[in-house]
Amino acid sequence: MKKFPVYLMAILCLTVIHCYGQVGPGSGSAYCSQGHIRMNDLKIHAGDMPSDYDVSYLRFDLNIDPGQDYISGSVFTRFKVTGDLSDGLQMELSVDLTVDSVKYQGNLIPFTHSGEFTLSLQIPGFPDIGSVQDVEVFYRGVPVSGAGFGSIGREEHEGIPAMWTLSEPYGCRDWWPGKNDLTDKADSVDIIVHSPELYRTASNGVLVSDEVVDGIRTCHWKHRYPVVPYLIAIAVTNYEVYSDIAYPGGIPVEILNYVYPEDKADIMPRTRQTVPVMELFSSMFTPYPFMQEKYGHAQFGWGGGMEHQTMSFMGRFDFEIIAHELAHQWFGDMVTLNSWKDIWLNEGFATYLAGMSYEHLFDGYYWPFWKSQNISYVTSEPDGSVYVDDTTKVSRIFSGRLSYSKGALLLHMLRWVCGDEAFFTACRNYLEDPRLKYGFAGTSDLKAHLETAAGIDLTEFFNDWYYGQGYPSYNIICNQVATGDYETEIRQTQSHASVSFFEMPVPVMFSGSGKDTTIVFQHTFNAQKFRIYTEFEIESVKFDPEQWLIAGPSVDTLFRKTEVVKLYPNPSRDFIRVTTGGAQPEDIKLFDCTGREVRTDISMNGPVARIDVSGLSAGCYLIRLRTASESKVVKFVRQ
Ligand SMILES: [Zn+2]
Repeated sequence: MKKFPVYLMAILCLTVIHCYGQVGPGSGSAYCSQGHIRMNDLKIHAGDMPSDYDVSYLRFDLNIDPGQDYISGSVFTRFKVTGDLSDGLQMELSVDLTVDSVKYQGNLIPFTHSGEFTLSLQIPGFPDIGSVQDVEVFYRGVPVSGAGFGSIGREEHEGIPAMWTLSEPYGCRDWWPGKNDLTDKADSVDIIVHSPELYRTASNGVLVSDEVVDGIRTCHWKHRYPVVPYLIAIAVTNYEVYSDIAYPGGIPVEILNYVYPEDKADIMPRTRQTVPVMELFSSMFTPYPFMQEKYGHAQFGWGGGMEHQTMSFMGRFDFEIIAHELAHQWFGDMVTLNSWKDIWLNEGFATYLAGMSYEHLFDGYYWPFWKSQNISYVTSEPDGSVYVDDTTKVSRIFSGRLSYSKGALLLHMLRWVCGDEAFFTACRNYLEDPRLKYGFAGTSDLKAHLETAAGIDLTEFFNDWYYGQGYPSYNIICNQVATGDYETEIRQTQSHASVSFFEMPVPVMFSGSGKDTTIVFQHTFNAQKFRIYTEFEIESVKFDPEQWLIAGPSVDTLFRKTEVVKLYPNPSRDFIRVTTGGAQPEDIKLFDCTGREVRTDISMNGPVARIDVSGLSAGCYLIRLRTASESKVVKFVRQ
């Protein structure tokens, strides 16, 4: 799912200078407001449905006329018995809808429909655990938009009614009776919708038939991949239909578009942008997950996009939202989060893959803007974790700043910490893991694959960045010790007390004389100092030039050049290094404490001398450096 945060509006002006129409980070946001997005924070069911049956197949047979609010029909559920059903088989359906009857194995059975959405079916006898049974619930009524993003939406376009569903996260029960459970995928689904001839239905999978009899059009969609309830959806209006074709790995995949007729000319060039993105994701990760069927877009009247499996519903057709919803087909649809606490596995990945589309397409032009926008958004508040601590609040689950932007940047930083090869290998292994593919995953699954691929322990990283709140701000201080010789100190403060220190590899770029070098410091404690040597004189210092890190806006760098003569190590046993900070001495002499010259063979190599003192006896010595303008004496101790 992708909504349009208001913060992006300010950034839009940056992209206008190089305009690709509706391309660019936050493209389209100027037309958007949070007012389009309904997010009702109700205390709602958060996935505690008893799991004494396992759904294998669903068949929807619905009568829908978008011109009327009324729907009627049935949902057939085939399931495997996994527990004791003697207290009834539990489903959810809003009590705003009326259940007429329920059939179990073809015979009518009693049921109760109470509370807000509890539908309890009285199964006769004691079906064996492991046996396959079926129920069909017949129902009707006016569906009422529920919690979350509305569940059922309606609008008129050019005077024509449209009706659609958007169930994420808990809204299935507002329009169909079933096991509204995040962690049970049906293996396959048939969706049959009867509507007045004017209307076509867009849905999951392949359109098996589209027939008109006596003024009623019946669209039959068949989906033969595992699908979680919240990703089943229908949209009904007077759609016009056209296709684009992508060739991921050389194999054709249809991109089937259902759009409002009046918008078709405008939308056609935009949906075409799906083609290179599908080919990109398929080459970066794994082949498009629903290759045997299709991918598609169905236009709807909501303010963002929703990644319904094989058919994303789109309120806008901007490049970034096209890429975001397509990315969900891998991250969210094929591998689905196993708890709403881990929504970043859906939204962080989708947001990051849209960002990487900028990295790899359009010559990377928008990629720096995407990174700076997201870093700014994440650091606009001092607190908040990617981990969702309260899944009863839809606005918390779908926090744009935390679940989307910070989740995406966590992936970006994991790529930085693990390296490109290990990161992408881990992502592919995560998607291909037989325990997870077409099933469910949690944060620990992704962490394990990253740790295996990179060979490092990421526990500290996840404690700081996933469970912890806030972000670091850095201060880089670079002092010149001598020409080509610098001491760099890295200081860090944290925006939130939950993290005492963010251990990170910190890249710093040093520039001067038309040259530059970027050094990565393993920053493990505050005010850590590093000695660096460069072949050029440093004139400026830049923190994180390629924007790998989440860091606060107080980042600054300080460069201090020094002319002071320095000796180190001091005391010394083997050698000492003498630097003058740039000045070229005319001569250098070494005396003991009585003033006796003890070595006559030492000389400066430019402003630097390395003196072997291993042959000296222990004690105190003096070095005198004489330049054209002054003479300096410094003391050192031979241990
Ligand atoms: Zn999304």
